[in-house]
Amino acid sequence: MIFRRTEGVVVRRTDYSETSKIATFYTRDHGKIRAIAKGARRKKSEFLGLLEPLSLLEIVFIERRSGLHILKEAHLLDSKLELRQELSRIAHALNLLSLIDQTQPDEDADPDVFELLVSGLSALSHISNAENVTFAFQVHLLRHFGKLPRLDTCAHCGASLGAAARFRARSGVLLCHSCGKDSDRPLPPGTLGALRRLAEIPLPRCGRIRLSSEQQAEISSLLAAMLRTAIEGDLPAQAVAHALLGR
Ligand SMILES: [Zn+2]
Repeated sequence: MIFRRTEGVVVRRTDYSETSKIATFYTRDHGKIRAIAKGARRKKSEFLGLLEPLSLLEIVFIERRSGLHILKEAHLLDSKLELRQELSRIAHALNLLSLIDQTQPDEDADPDVFELLVSGLSALSHISNAENVTFAFQVHLLRHFGKLPRLDTCAHCGASLGAAARFRARSGVLLCHSCGKDSDRPLPPGTLGALRRLAEIPLPRCGRIRLSSEQQAEISSLLAAMLRTAIEGDLPAQAVAHALLGR
């Protein structure tokens, strides 16, 4: 038997049989894993109250070839209590989890993505501007995939973009006005600058960026389009849409 010990965020959990639950974790050392917590539905279970989505745990599990591992121990590191006290924050946090769930394959460790998730959830706990956290998280995730378009120069001719650009959804790039076509989406003034700031600023400080509600709506829709382009082909479109919309 191989015992594994790692840190993981609870992504979701479902009941399994009369007495057990199956939990999905995004872990530092093994990526996304599923484990059965035997007896977790019993009133005196050692797992009681621990397997809540968003919680950060230290876990020990027995590795099984089937991919459904056996959870042996779980210790609470952070219950994200501050985050759970406001419905809109919970929605943003579940949206981050959903993006990780939909974009990360099983059993594929990526400690940078784990750190990004932990950092995003922590930022949602103490930054009042939850939208900015979601935007910064999405920008960082896109960059991690190597899918964040160049924000300073045109992808075709290399000209400086200045304050204006067009987004070509098909290839996920930004173009200058000479190279862009009418079918490419124009970015309103301010949007490109705001995206640059989101890409530059460390995630824990993203609350400092001030965005108007129009800019928020524009950036939200633009990032959704970029993510869709970035992960299209790897996932069914429906799943991507649900991940992006947090459903
Ligand atoms: Zn150009």
